[in-house]
Amino acid sequence: MAHTEFNPRHLLVEVFANEGASLQQVAPLAQMERLVESVQGSVEGLNVQWRAQGETRVQRYGAKPQVWLHLQASAHVPMTCQRCLSEASIPLEIDQSYRFVATENEALDEDEDSEEDILVLSRDFDVLELLEDELIMALPPIPKHDQCPQAPSFEAADDDFSGGEQAKPNPFAVLQKLKREGGT
Ligand SMILES: [Zn+2]
Repeated sequence: MAHTEFNPRHLLVEVFANEGASLQQVAPLAQMERLVESVQGSVEGLNVQWRAQGETRVQRYGAKPQVWLHLQASAHVPMTCQRCLSEASIPLEIDQSYRFVATENEALDEDEDSEEDILVLSRDFDVLELLEDELIMALPPIPKHDQCPQAPSFEAADDDFSGGEQAKPNPFAVLQKLKREGGT
C-alpha cells in the first residue's frame, strides 16, 4: 500500500491519480479571500467540506493512462436575497471532474471537444485554488431564499447570523406605533 502524504496546496497530481488517492478536508471559508469578496455577509465560522479523488483511466493498451481528478464540495454562503433583500444562506454544491494533459497546447486542442474540464498537469497543483474558483462560479447570479421570511421581524432572524441585524428597526413596528399614538 502506498502512503504518500499529499498537500492540497502543492499536489503532485500524477502521483495522486496513480495511487488512486483521496483527500478530504473541512476548510474555513474565511481563508478564501476572493470568495469572501464575492458574497455578502460574514463567513466567520463557516466552512466548506470538500473531497478530491485521483484516478487513472486506461484508454488503450500501450498508451499512457489518462490522469483524472474528481472534486466534490458543499458549503453555505451568505448572500443578499434579491426578493426580500435580507440575508440568505445559499447552498453551494460542487461535483466536477478534470482531466489532466501534459501541455498547454494539448489542453487548448482538447478543451473544445471534451465534456470534462481539461487542465494542464503540474507537479505543484493547488486544489484549494481550484475549489475557490468552482465555489465562485457556483454562486447564483440572482440569489434568493427558497422561502423568504414573511416579514422582517426579530424572531425570524437567523440565530446563526448574529452580526448587525438587530440594529435595523422594523419598519412595521414603527408604523404600528404611529397609528396607535395617532388614534388616541
Ligand atoms: Zn428572501
